[in-house]
Amino acid sequence: MARYDFDMITIGAGSGGVASSRRAGSYGARVAIIEELRIGGTCVLRGCVPKKLLVYGAQFADAFEDAAGFGWTVEPPKFDWPFLIAAKNKELDRLEQIYVNMLRNSKVEMIDGRGIVVDPHTVEVAGRRYTAENILVATGGHPTVPDIPGIEHVISSNEALDLPTLPRRVIIVGGGYIAVEFAGIFRGFGSEVVEIIRADELLRGFDDDVRVALGEEMRGRGIELHTRTQIARIDKDARGEFTVQTAGGHEIAGDVVMYATGRGPNSKGLGLPEVGVAMGQNGAIKVDEWQRTSVPSIYAVGDVTDRINLTPVAIGEGRAIAETLFNNNPMTFDHDNVPSAVFSNPPIGAVGLTEAEARQQHGEVDIYCARFRPMKNTLSGRNERIFMKLVVDAKTERVLGCHMLGPDAPEIIQGLAIAVKCGASKRMFDQTVGIHPSAAEEFVTMREKFVRPPQKEAAE
Ligand code: NDP
Repeated sequence: MARYDFDMITIGAGSGGVASSRRAGSYGARVAIIEELRIGGTCVLRGCVPKKLLVYGAQFADAFEDAAGFGWTVEPPKFDWPFLIAAKNKELDRLEQIYVNMLRNSKVEMIDGRGIVVDPHTVEVAGRRYTAENILVATGGHPTVPDIPGIEHVISSNEALDLPTLPRRVIIVGGGYIAVEFAGIFRGFGSEVVEIIRADELLRGFDDDVRVALGEEMRGRGIELHTRTQIARIDKDARGEFTVQTAGGHEIAGDVVMYATGRGPNSKGLGLPEVGVAMGQNGAIKVDEWQRTSVPSIYAVGDVTDRINLTPVAIGEGRAIAETLFNNNPMTFDHDNVPSAVFSNPPIGAVGLTEAEARQQHGEVDIYCARFRPMKNTLSGRNERIFMKLVVDAKTERVLGCHMLGPDAPEIIQGLAIAVKCGASKRMFDQTVGIHPSAAEEFVTMREKFVRPPQKEAAE
């Protein structure tokens, strides 16, 4: 008789939990996965996938506009938001079913309900107890909002993905990934968009030049960007209109107020501190490089650990656990040089260090930049420019970071991420033949080092 009901019980059927469970199941481990909502998690149901479908939808606005410069006559196009939302939901149902089938094929038992850890080897679901040699917590995260008067009136990205009608005026608070992506989505569909951020620039953590360039392009697309602005309160009137009052006393009216001010780990009420699992201040589960918590039989992956909150990272961490525990192949996940993209309009792709990080970690760095109008915009007349940047270690010539703002940036940076991961030098970039005519070729043809003009204060 086996000592436990399962070799591994996973709590949370999102990207990380499913990836780990499937791989473990494929190695013959007896695995159960517990989920209280739908199979698929944030990425498939409330994040990456539905967001990207809406991004695709919004991008047609540009295509219709640009077509005129190439000789097309386009009737004023009409857009049907409920149609797109229904089509998106149908696709999510399809994907959820694929996830369910994949779990079934890997012989992973699916248990409906909320799992609570009652001891290092036992999880309770609706009063029933299941035991396992290992427990994996992969419960993800949730949107967080500040506690200010009227915050109950705001929506998060969860609700924004399912609004019954397209709002005419949208107010977005926050300057991170989610905020800029939804600003681009709503603007593309024709809504008036006001984005309010407390910092000087969007997207803290990204390269400063990219941040500035994105702000310029978003403003150029008609998004009203308020920087260095805090919100004091939010009111709703009898007609259902919202007014956001800034700390400076300015009032902005809208039909929807969306907050995208960060996400927090889903770790409350799981019984974790009670069984001795160490947590960080914001509720993030602390893990070592093997994804192991302070309780040796309990592991955690993905957003609930609040490190790099990206789907492929959660998947990589989850698979590493399955390799280590069930395939006699000890594996850790390498968190260095993780590329990422922001599906703003225009989008961003980035891998490696920003200029500021590189200067701090490597001292002297060489910078190569290009800002240019892509060929398509010559005939379309679109006044938008691509920005590209390479950050290079001056001593070793190693490329430390690649950053891009412009159409297809996520697709282009994925390839460059391999080069950066391999430690490619600027010389190797230069030796690579460009693909012509493309925007991407600029990454292998940048010759002139960029010398930043002296700051105004220094010049005076
Ligand atoms: P982020 O952490 O990216 O950004 C949060 C934003 O909210 C920042 O601009 C921050 O400002 C601002 N903010 C925080 N608190 C307040 C406050 N009290 N008042 C006003 N502004 C505030 O969070 P997101 O919610 O956008 O995304 C969460 C995570 O999800 C991301 O970090 C990312 O890992 C993941 N994600 C990834 C995507 C992708 O890969 N394309 C897409 C969507 C999400 P400040 O900069 O001043 O701190």
